[in-house]
Amino acid sequence: MMIMQKKRILVVDDSEMNRSILADILDGEFEITEAENGLQAIDILQKESEDFLLVLLDIVMPEMDGFGVLEEMNRLKLIDNLPVIMVSAETASSQIERAYELGATDFIIRPFDASIVHRRVVNTILLYAKQKKLISIIEDQVDEKERFNSLMVDILSHIVEFRNGESGLHIQHVRVLTNFLLTKLCEKTDRYPLSETDISIISIASALHDIGKIGIDDHILNKPGPLTDDEYVIMKTHSMIGAKILDSLTMYKDNPLVRRAYEICRWHHERYDGRGYPDGLSGDKIPIGAQIVALADVYDALTSERVYKKAISHEKALEMILDGKCGAFNPLLLKCLSENSEDIRSVLKKPDVNVSRREKRGFNDVLVHSKAGEVASDRTLRLLDYERMKYNFFAAMTEEIQFEYSMATDTLTISPLGAEKLGVEEVVVSPEKSEKLKEIIGGDWFRSLIDMLEKSTPEKPEIRHEKQLHCNGEYRWHNIIVRAIWTDEIPPKVDGFIGKAVDVHDAHITINELKENATHDPLTDLLNRAEAKAQIERRLLNYPNHKYALACFDIDFFKHANDTYGHLFGDKVLKTISQKMTHSIRASDICARMGGDEFLIFFEYDTDINAIIARIFKSLCCNVDKFDVTISMGIAEMTSVGESYEELFHRADLALYHSKQSGRNQYHLYDDSMKNILAQSNITDIDVPTDKKED
Ligand code: GH3
Ligand code: MG
Repeated sequence: MMIMQKKRILVVDDSEMNRSILADILDGEFEITEAENGLQAIDILQKESEDFLLVLLDIVMPEMDGFGVLEEMNRLKLIDNLPVIMVSAETASSQIERAYELGATDFIIRPFDASIVHRRVVNTILLYAKQKKLISIIEDQVDEKERFNSLMVDILSHIVEFRNGESGLHIQHVRVLTNFLLTKLCEKTDRYPLSETDISIISIASALHDIGKIGIDDHILNKPGPLTDDEYVIMKTHSMIGAKILDSLTMYKDNPLVRRAYEICRWHHERYDGRGYPDGLSGDKIPIGAQIVALADVYDALTSERVYKKAISHEKALEMILDGKCGAFNPLLLKCLSENSEDIRSVLKKPDVNVSRREKRGFNDVLVHSKAGEVASDRTLRLLDYERMKYNFFAAMTEEIQFEYSMATDTLTISPLGAEKLGVEEVVVSPEKSEKLKEIIGGDWFRSLIDMLEKSTPEKPEIRHEKQLHCNGEYRWHNIIVRAIWTDEIPPKVDGFIGKAVDVHDAHITINELKENATHDPLTDLLNRAEAKAQIERRLLNYPNHKYALACFDIDFFKHANDTYGHLFGDKVLKTISQKMTHSIRASDICARMGGDEFLIFFEYDTDINAIIARIFKSLCCNVDKFDVTISMGIAEMTSVGESYEELFHRADLALYHSKQSGRNQYHLYDDSMKNILAQSNITDIDVPTDKKED
């Protein structure tokens, strides 16, 4: 087994808590690098993706979410080499599907079990390693085949060289140079769209450039001195002979190697300026393989020793070629040659440069047998404490009964306030067997809850139902919302649940309702005393020159209505009066319940206040079932600009007092004669009139 070179895992999550938990699970065996969001992750991967074995990726994050990271990894072509496991609370199948489509290898749904995360991480890494090993085996086989082909070509060309009296190194040099120059050319320009395979084929084919010499007479081929013109004409036919030999391989005509070799054999003596042979092609009409081989051929011929000449230096050969003394070549190719002059020299010293560079990465079998980190780090414990404190704080604020059950420990945990309401302990072990819980929720509650949860799905994980719970000494209806916690097994099993029970009476209080409760009387929906004061003071301040009056009234003998017909009836009277009030005034006027059976009306008027009061008074005296409602009312007009609400209210109250004192069922506008009324007398406790007595 090979030694593993890298063991890094990148954990991408915006929650420090989540990152810490994952780091704890994998720490020790892997080096964990953390990123807080997608952008940070991509930044790290762009610089050092090669160093990572795996990425654990959250979905919902600021800056760039998990899908963004996957898209970027696709764009940067990282996704095929680096496995990504999504770790998310997301359960919608469309989201999971999208992650897989973007190339994620696996998906772990939160909350998860530490050993399962560990196992899946290790499995994924192993799977990738195995896949890489397979690819490497296939690459080895392809290489082997390539080497074999190459060997055959070498033998063949060696026969030619042997016959030519050449050293045997020439063919090898031409091949190395062809490969090198082609690679440099493709880096420099995209004028010649050649793949790595094309480059490799052309390089092998280059070895066949002189096979046509097999058809040239020995005495010309190996003539020690210069050739005569006639002999040169014959010698020049070698390129066409080579092409013909290949062309006659009808079975392999379409084979890429044979095609490239044909081009090279036929045209490796053409010149870029069109003055070469056999066809006089010019420029890029000469296939690029043939152009390169021509250059490599010339360079190696110059720098090698032959029977008829000594070897010249690399520098001198380069100078001669660049000066155009050895033929005309593609200027781009000459640039490649001059720009890489030093590399050419070293490349030729290592003839096996062509050996393919395969990545051979191993992995450590220790991984397979290791266990999940079982001990949480201090950092995780601190974060967990913080989460617990936060949870307890909010749990203490809510009227809801919150609960959580874990199958592994068979323990039900109930929020402190919830436990108090139900009259049970906060932690109940084996809740299914608890007699107390059976009393509170019902005999088979646990079984039926698990049954229901097992029928839920990751797409619709919550189940809701209404149930009576024995709470604060009485049975009350509760909305119960529960969500299953699933195991990671296939198929998943219910491993526990979390949920809450909300008293149906409390369930519908919204923020607006809470706000409403702060300003309104809940029974009648009228403004309460404090809000009425605030609104009236605002009106007096903003519009001080308008004419205002304030009426206070109190229902006569209301206690009697309560005592005779009950409080619910009393409530009905209060509600009826309130509705009549709002109907008898304008929308801009202000109505309020001051408390008990006492009300207030603040109104604006232009002309005859008496007519307005008479109308209001009349509309409020009505009949609710058997009870004739009468009221006593006192009204105060605003006498001067800048008068306060308290002064106005005080005078209206005195006038009300006067009305009560004068025998009830009447109204009075305040006048100064009432100023000392409170000091003068006590309100009469007169007998309830006979018409208000019970039948
Ligand atoms: P008086 O003619 O002197 O006003 O006699 P009264 O019986 O109306 O006496 P008072 O106004 O002092 O009594 C108010 C009663 O209203 C006392 C209280 O029991 C009752 N009450 C106060 N708030 C509510 C309520 O919200 N609902 C009901 N049903 N009764 C209420
Ligand atoms: Mg009253």
